[in-house]
Amino acid sequence: MKFSWKTLLLWSLPVLVVFFFLWQGFLVPTTETNNNIANSRMTYGRFLEYIDMGWVKKVDIYDNGHTAIIEAIGPELGNRIQKIRVELPANASELITKLRQAQIDIDAHPNKNNNIIWNIIGNLFFPVLLIGGLALLFRKSNNGTSGPGQAMSFGKSKALFQMEAKTGILFDDVAGIDEAKEEFQEVVTFLKQPDSFTAVGAKIPKGVLLIGPPGTGKTLLAKAIAGEANVPFFSISGSEFVEMFVGVGASRVRDLFKKAKENAPCIVFIDEIDAVGRQRGTGIGGGNDEREQTLNQLLTEMDGFEGNTGVIVIAATNRADILDAALLRPGRFDRQVMVDIPDLNGRLAILKVHTKNKKIDSDVSIQTIARRTPGFSGADLANLLNEAAILTVRKRKEAITIAELDASIDRVVAGMEGTPLINSKSKRLIAYHEIGHAIVGTLLEHHDPVQKVTLIPRGQAKGLTWFTPGEDQTLISKSQILSRIMAALGGRVAEEVIFGNTEVTTGASNDLQQVTSIARQMVTRFGMSIIGPLSLESEDGNPFLGKNFTNNNEYSDEIAVNIDKQVQHIVYQCYKKVIEIIKNNRVVIDKLVDILTEQETIEGTKLEEIISQYTIIPQKNVYFK
Ligand code: ADP
Ligand code: MG
Ligand code: ZN
Repeated sequence: MKFSWKTLLLWSLPVLVVFFFLWQGFLVPTTETNNNIANSRMTYGRFLEYIDMGWVKKVDIYDNGHTAIIEAIGPELGNRIQKIRVELPANASELITKLRQAQIDIDAHPNKNNNIIWNIIGNLFFPVLLIGGLALLFRKSNNGTSGPGQAMSFGKSKALFQMEAKTGILFDDVAGIDEAKEEFQEVVTFLKQPDSFTAVGAKIPKGVLLIGPPGTGKTLLAKAIAGEANVPFFSISGSEFVEMFVGVGASRVRDLFKKAKENAPCIVFIDEIDAVGRQRGTGIGGGNDEREQTLNQLLTEMDGFEGNTGVIVIAATNRADILDAALLRPGRFDRQVMVDIPDLNGRLAILKVHTKNKKIDSDVSIQTIARRTPGFSGADLANLLNEAAILTVRKRKEAITIAELDASIDRVVAGMEGTPLINSKSKRLIAYHEIGHAIVGTLLEHHDPVQKVTLIPRGQAKGLTWFTPGEDQTLISKSQILSRIMAALGGRVAEEVIFGNTEVTTGASNDLQQVTSIARQMVTRFGMSIIGPLSLESEDGNPFLGKNFTNNNEYSDEIAVNIDKQVQHIVYQCYKKVIEIIKNNRVVIDKLVDILTEQETIEGTKLEEIISQYTIIPQKNVYFK
């Protein structure tokens, strides 16, 4: 309804514009002489002659003496009385005298009043229509929560906040973040039976801050709290507060809280609170006055209501570190709940929630999918299952099988599938590169097994070797780390051993980046070099902006030089061992490359089967001393 009104108006405006010009052009001029029967015209001179000839019977003067309609009769006019229009010169006083002498009937018709009114209305009609239309558009673009009659009041209930009377989401729909759910159990109880809290004088927190990377279920969790407690859910995004006009944000905050208090008990959810709640006066974002006003208003509102009014404010952010300290003070968002990227069990639980309403082939092991998706957020997993479902429909299958799930994971992780390369030297080189990774990964005891090797490009990669991550990715041993470095080097080393030092390509740049980063962390964070068990660099305070390692410069220049030497040493040792592995297994590598170039993809099990015909896997401790 709302939308169709808007469209109707939008479409009708141009039509009205056209209409307006037509009307101005054709209708308005005719109103200046309402006696428009006079189709024929004559010049003033001829008119004077007509008078002299005595042919003119009557003269009606219009238009403040500018126009005359004469009634004349004569042989030229076919001896019938005709009405003729004559334009009169500005000063035609002699005409009156002349007409009088000739005893011609004269009548003057001043412009009628309603003519003027019509003109005024005509001129005003269109602008009024335009303004009215715009006003209507304004109002219609507002959400239903703002009543009528607030069309032009900026900020007043611009209703960029949404209200859901019932979210319909329960705690069971939120999986893998059990600690966070537990934190909120109490809030739900409070919203349901506030009396039991007030009776003993307990105060429930007014504000809870949800902190976590995007897609981990913060919004979902907030909705589930409202759903469990069966109270309304008001939500707004911080970025919507920050408007072009100063004062709009603050008035929105006021409005939101007014509405919330009227509907208590309820949940107010402020998404992306960092957009308004950044530290003030830091100069970031150019000292935005508007933002500060909005933030101040928010703080005032939160201080203004007593703890047990039944309004609970939940805010979400992925940047808790940049929030203004005033927001985190007691009585405001003093309770903070972390919502993190789910671990293996969390992923399993989330997958279970999202497979409930989908048809999954009985062969599919959700465990395997959870294993293959480290680092996926809840939203990623939901998206993954949806992609797989779409793919299943496209293939006209009955249920989602592991093939669709695999394809979807690959796509999420590595990007869109490209077209395979045609047979060429570069395709062969890529094949050697990938088999290099695969064989090193397979032979090393401490490395994750290969899931598949493929020459089908995806995203930026020309070929890919996928490994199945092991059970626990949080505690990793030194030999596991070294194995990763070696497997990552496998690609470049294979290129070098087979094609020679001058033929190596840029294709290994990502691998080398990874190698260097791992080796550096071994030295500076994990104490895994001869520098000793020192923590020299730490992960950046903000884990959500990608992994940045800041140098806090607490070591001497001498150690800095030493770090670089150790990094180089680790990588070089690994490199030498990888050369050995590639050279020792040349026969099976050639064989695998032939298969890969022909078939484009080799599954992990098949790969192991072939390799085991030539050598023992894994080669225990051969490369670690
Ligand atoms: P955030 O607000 O943290 O960015 P959302 O709550 O908007 O994330 O999550 C987006 C979608 O991802 C949800 O609607 C849900 O389908 C899915 N999702 C995310 N986290 C979870 C979870 N923990 N359990 C179940 N589904 C989840
Ligand atoms: Mg969200
Ligand atoms: Zn590579």
